[in-house]
Amino acid sequence: MRLFDSHNRHIHKLRLSLLDACNLRCIYCMPQNPQFLNQNELLSRQDIKSLSSILVNLGIDEIRLTGGEPTMRSDFMDIVKDLSLLELKKLAFTTNGLFLKQHLPKLKKTECRNINFSLDSLNEKGFFNMTGSRDFQKVLQAILMTKELGFNVKINTVLMKNMNHHEIKDFVEFSGKYGIEVRFLELMRIGPARNRFEELFISADKIIDTLKNISTLMPIQLPVDSTSFNFKLNNKANIGIIASESKPFCGGCSRLRLSATGKIRPCLMMNQGFSLKNKSTDEIKKILLKTMALKPVDRIYEVLQPMNQIGG
Ligand code: SAM
Ligand code: SF4
Repeated sequence: MRLFDSHNRHIHKLRLSLLDACNLRCIYCMPQNPQFLNQNELLSRQDIKSLSSILVNLGIDEIRLTGGEPTMRSDFMDIVKDLSLLELKKLAFTTNGLFLKQHLPKLKKTECRNINFSLDSLNEKGFFNMTGSRDFQKVLQAILMTKELGFNVKINTVLMKNMNHHEIKDFVEFSGKYGIEVRFLELMRIGPARNRFEELFISADKIIDTLKNISTLMPIQLPVDSTSFNFKLNNKANIGIIASESKPFCGGCSRLRLSATGKIRPCLMMNQGFSLKNKSTDEIKKILLKTMALKPVDRIYEVLQPMNQIGG
């Protein structure tokens, strides 16, 4: 079965949030004093297993686990193992990498081959300023080890004025040296980032100008629903740009989101959705059609909820 929304977009990717809690405090993501959900409010391992299986039968063929920090769940590996048994084209997750090293040997034996890391600085001080953590080296080692073990690794870097924008060249060198794709994200008007948006935002055009001063940019062909556009640079770096604010890609969106509490949501920017918990396959099918009908074509200006609660 294949799912199409009212604008004939093929909806086949699921962002599945495992929890809202996190061991970092990235300044653009988390509120000052975050209140996290109680354990008993989260989808259980069994809920995730059965819901994912139903969604795959209905047309989902890619699942990316996210959060909060997905590796903080004590049953994280069990969930990855459960999902590895499904007929998926791609199983992936997004992580800050802090707890990853311990999982790598077991991950290697699963079907999960794709790991995106969030890394906003390539030095201790910058990392601390962005995340409040002194564990930069630990994260860096986890990223390099993951690459060495043969996983498909990407780095996501939210670029911000006077925070890390001067590190673009360092990331280009890093990408070329280790053969790791680095994607620069525009800051989005989500949660706490809205309050300092004008002060911190750097546009894709500005990023491209800086890149052009470093190298010639050779465009890389990507699928239509890719969130990034990418360039190969002279040093073989693969640099992507995710321009959610200045060049939104909503028209090609192929995603649905399932919150940590089991609410299916049509769009990152819409705090609206329907619970799939304890529903039959038929009921879930109807809910999916209703949810897809709500998917916007144009970019919604902002959303108050912080990213850790939405599942980024
Ligand atoms: N904790 C994991 C991580 O950091 O990779 C997964 C969850 S995190 C919410 C997912 C992604 O959302 C990260 O790459 C983070 O940089 C991004 N993010 C969070 N808030 C954002 C904002 N206001 N604008 C742009 N990206 C944001
Ligand atoms: Fe945590 Fe990821 Fe949000 Fe940073 S971006 S605070 S690592 S959930």
